[in-house]
Amino acid sequence: MKQAQYRLLDRYKFCKDFTNFNKNQLIALVLIFIGCCWYFSSSYTFNVQKSRKINEELKRFKALLKQNSKANSSSCKVPQLDPWDVSILKYYKEAPALTCTPIQANVTYVENGYLKINKEFIGNVQCRYRYYGQDTGISDYEVRYEEWRDFESEAKIEQDFVEVECSRKSFLSVNFYKYHWNTIVPKITNLINKSIENSSNEKPSVIMMGIDSMSRSNFIRQLNKTYAVLQKLGFVDMKSHVKIWDNTYNNLLAVLLGKRGTPSREFPAEIPDSPEIYYDGFDFIWKNFSDQGYVTLLAEDKPDRGTFNKDYNTKGFKFQPVDHYMRPYWLAAVSSLLKLRSVLKCYDYNPEFTLHLNYIQQFLNNYKNKRKFAFWWTQDLSHDDLNKFGVFDHDLAKFFETNAPNFEDSIVIVFSDHGDRIHAIRQTVVGRLESRYINTRGHLHHLCLLTRV
Ligand SMILES: [Zn+2]
Repeated sequence: MKQAQYRLLDRYKFCKDFTNFNKNQLIALVLIFIGCCWYFSSSYTFNVQKSRKINEELKRFKALLKQNSKANSSSCKVPQLDPWDVSILKYYKEAPALTCTPIQANVTYVENGYLKINKEFIGNVQCRYRYYGQDTGISDYEVRYEEWRDFESEAKIEQDFVEVECSRKSFLSVNFYKYHWNTIVPKITNLINKSIENSSNEKPSVIMMGIDSMSRSNFIRQLNKTYAVLQKLGFVDMKSHVKIWDNTYNNLLAVLLGKRGTPSREFPAEIPDSPEIYYDGFDFIWKNFSDQGYVTLLAEDKPDRGTFNKDYNTKGFKFQPVDHYMRPYWLAAVSSLLKLRSVLKCYDYNPEFTLHLNYIQQFLNNYKNKRKFAFWWTQDLSHDDLNKFGVFDHDLAKFFETNAPNFEDSIVIVFSDHGDRIHAIRQTVVGRLESRYINTRGHLHHLCLLTRV
């Protein structure tokens, strides 16, 4: 009862105070109100202008594309290839199915940042796990393991890569299960010890997803569902871009470092042309992003022939180059007995591609609205075969479709380094053009680009 009275008294006091406002106070209130209106309307206009700024750039880019494609334009003409040209049709096949047969019981899984034991095994098995990562400061070809930790039913994962093994609780306890899992454990600060800021119109995330040896035409043939999804999402098809060199190393070096890795007849190499180098000291693009409060990712799926770790001839990075570096995961998984026993291109019941895609998916999930730079690269299925990558068309299409909300305030680039370099399709004029295209402007063979702000 007393409390109700107090409330009535408060209201009465407020009304009384309000009616006691003098003229000057009322004028001040009106001025504050007008000031607020002006502030909110101008900040709205500013935001609209920022959006317009990006849109204007996109419009200008599209106008340039249109201008260059005009028949009477004086600019260089880049031939536009028909992905279904009759001369190359005999080299096209529908991608064969990939069936990953399980070769062990499915004992553990990863969910919401926890390593968990499947219900039917809890109490019957003894499991343990250990974290691992790059053998930093020593070698980019070795991984460094931490100590084993026992767990009963679940354990919170505190590092990106975890190895788990289980044995049955019996007199003869023998390990019957082993697996390597990857996930993204979010960091508070990035590699150069800066806080990870929010993404914005002016500091958008940059997500680069590349497929080795995938010409634009072969992308359309192999990944037609993905291509349709990208078109629907507003990706810009950059039809006239070409490679600048024959192989992966030099094309990616141009993108990531802006330097020539191998000398040509006209120009010297801009970094030492020696396999015996570490790449830590060079100004890779991810360092710029890191300096601007971005979290960074580098993921390649073939550790035996990584861009900077080719056939043990180049040494890669002595120290971890980015915040989330996937190489140690694949080094450990690929050299395991489980991998040796698995179907080709599988790791037990999972396609290796799915595990690779999972890493960037976790990156997008766990750093929502944060400034991100990702360089995700796959070559496992596309490098040595013209017609196998299409088996993941559905997965990739779904990936882009479901991640559309994650691409707000982002620039997403889906690209390749060159077309097919090794198969008979190159015996045709169209196939040769697909592979090399023509070297006009020194750009890479980007397939599509999306700007969403
Ligand atoms: Zn390549």
